[in-house]
Amino acid sequence: MPTRNKTPKVHPDLESVMFTEAQIKKRVRELGHELRSVFGQGEFTIVSIINGAVMFTADLMREIDNPVRLDCIRISSYGDKTKSLGTPQIVSSLTIDIAGRHVLLIDDILDTGKTITLVSGLITKLRPASLRTCVFLDKEGRREVPFVADFVGFKIPDKFVVGYGLDFAERYRNLPCIGVLNPQLQNAPGPA
Ligand code: 5GP
Ligand code: MG
Repeated sequence: MPTRNKTPKVHPDLESVMFTEAQIKKRVRELGHELRSVFGQGEFTIVSIINGAVMFTADLMREIDNPVRLDCIRISSYGDKTKSLGTPQIVSSLTIDIAGRHVLLIDDILDTGKTITLVSGLITKLRPASLRTCVFLDKEGRREVPFVADFVGFKIPDKFVVGYGLDFAERYRNLPCIGVLNPQLQNAPGPA
């Protein structure tokens, strides 16, 4: 659950911490159990949308002992902005064959829905046996394209968050928690 301002700051650029490292760990473990209840012991192929989903994917993979294959897909990012700009583009596509495979598509956060809709469409064209989607965060209220993920870590309000893989201008990905970036920094021009 989102926390209040009383939560101690772990980084001076954060306005508040939304999820601590411990809360993230606990939820990722639970998601591992949820995956197991759906996939059983079977093999599946993970497609991770990078860079944002790197940490979540790495942690989630270690919560399951199914045989898994991994591939990554790179989608154009926000650049240095905090709001989605136009249509996302595929920058680097899949390298392994997913035809006839059970696929789990993983992203860090579901916002307007454009990115996951684009990637789901691409995967579907490659004729997987099944496609399921998993996002760590879900800003349900911001959807522009209707999309419901099969597995969701936390539903969150419309705040720009960083940490645990999520960036602002490529920074803050290595924070172990997820926090709300100080709004003053969101509008400031990035450092040279
Ligand atoms: P969508 O296409 O659903 O609008 O956006 C999904 C992508 O936007 C995510 O993969 C993520 O890279 C980025 N994004 C959306 N909301 C946030 C946010 O609050 N913080 C950060 N750092 N990235 C976000
Ligand atoms: Mg992303």
